[in-house]
Amino acid sequence: MDTTLRDGEQTPGVALTREKKLLIARALDELGIPIIEAGSAITSKGEREAIKAIAKDGLSAEICSYCRIVKADVDYALKCDVDSIHLVAPVSDLHIRTKLKKSRDEVRQIAADVTEYAKAHGLSVELSGEDSSRADPEFLKALYSDGIEAGADRLCYCDTVGLLVPEKATEIFKELSTSLKAPISVHCHNDFGFATANTVAALAGGAKQAHVTINGLGERSGNASLEEVVMSLEWLYKYDTGISCKQIYRTSRLVSRLTGIPVAPNKALVGGNAFTHEAGIHVHGLLADKATYEPMSPELIGRQRQIVLGKHAGRSSVALALKEMGLEAGEAQTEEIFKRVKQMGDQGKFVSDSDLQTIAENVLNTYSKPLVKLEEFTIVSGNRVTPTASVKLSIKEREIIQAGIGNGPVDAVINAIRRAVRSCAEDISLEEYHVDAITGGTDALVEVRMKLSKNGRTISSSGARTDIITASVEALMNGMNRLVRED
Ligand code: MN
Repeated sequence: MDTTLRDGEQTPGVALTREKKLLIARALDELGIPIIEAGSAITSKGEREAIKAIAKDGLSAEICSYCRIVKADVDYALKCDVDSIHLVAPVSDLHIRTKLKKSRDEVRQIAADVTEYAKAHGLSVELSGEDSSRADPEFLKALYSDGIEAGADRLCYCDTVGLLVPEKATEIFKELSTSLKAPISVHCHNDFGFATANTVAALAGGAKQAHVTINGLGERSGNASLEEVVMSLEWLYKYDTGISCKQIYRTSRLVSRLTGIPVAPNKALVGGNAFTHEAGIHVHGLLADKATYEPMSPELIGRQRQIVLGKHAGRSSVALALKEMGLEAGEAQTEEIFKRVKQMGDQGKFVSDSDLQTIAENVLNTYSKPLVKLEEFTIVSGNRVTPTASVKLSIKEREIIQAGIGNGPVDAVINAIRRAVRSCAEDISLEEYHVDAITGGTDALVEVRMKLSKNGRTISSSGARTDIITASVEALMNGMNRLVRED
């Protein structure tokens, strides 16, 4: 079960519109997720519209709504036409007495009643114990048993604040899966960085289902991440999950863009650096055999390795980067390109993919005219106008004039360029944008670095000017030309 749209949306600062939720649900369905927890119907009118739109979208996945053990929650879920509910009953004494101000027996009774109510209205029910890992195990089992009696289809054990450890998870799930007459699911949080390990350990113990989120989004430190759980099962345990792994990276980027939550560069599998190599000695090994410094092929999750050049670059990094770009250079030419890359690195400059391309093209004398050329641009910006930009581009000799607006002048000109190139570069997306003032002061040299991607291929580009707008435009044009040329 993927809960990106429910627990993931509870990430501080995230609120998804109906349209964004629908886009994510479709991507999850394409991944082959069997159950999508689309939200919590009681939350708001907008949330219900989103859940309903997802339920009506004809997806293969079972669509689920979160519910408390309150009949009104079930009624709202029914209005959204979901297939199932994730019915959550607090089970630790801390939650029962402090939060609910009820007794254990009352909670057991209400959980069974609401389960019966939902079943009577045609819903599948996954009865979940909130804060299970701090609950009395005997009470938890009694609540589960009552739930099964009342018709619950599945049960779930929630490690709500991430206190489980893997050995204990295996033990608990061995016991629960043999003593209970319904399949049991695991829901883990990452407060101690154990979410994935606990999830995999619970599955090893006998859990039949796991709750995950894309990029490990979720409350506080997040939930078990889909990409980590799926790929560790697939690659480390050789277990076929039925997930279309090649879509994982694309989905991770989509969720990051739509939620506005960046993925840490060192995040397992989907982080920017997960398949990026810089140091010369590693790249030397990679050249001989990719497996030397790669845990698995990045293509398995639909991404590509990146060779970053700079101060630590070795001859082999340059050779490999050229090879990845499809350029052929002789020994002397590689040596010359290497020298120029080192020079840039020594000046403290980051060598982007488009820089390397330019250097290589100069050395190899294969300088190709940019396919997309910026002829001119104009920007109007101020405190009482909407930042507006107009651009004139030539694309393969064809002239295109377009305009765009934005939150600021840089945004406006980038939007104008994107609209102008729609015909040849529609699927290019801007993944990252960084600005550095290299020398300080308002007249400083500004370096803009971008990451752009097209069909799962991500490249870096940069522009350096004393003017932030021109530097941004330069970086975008450089990167776009690299991506378009590759096609
Ligand atoms: Mn949770």
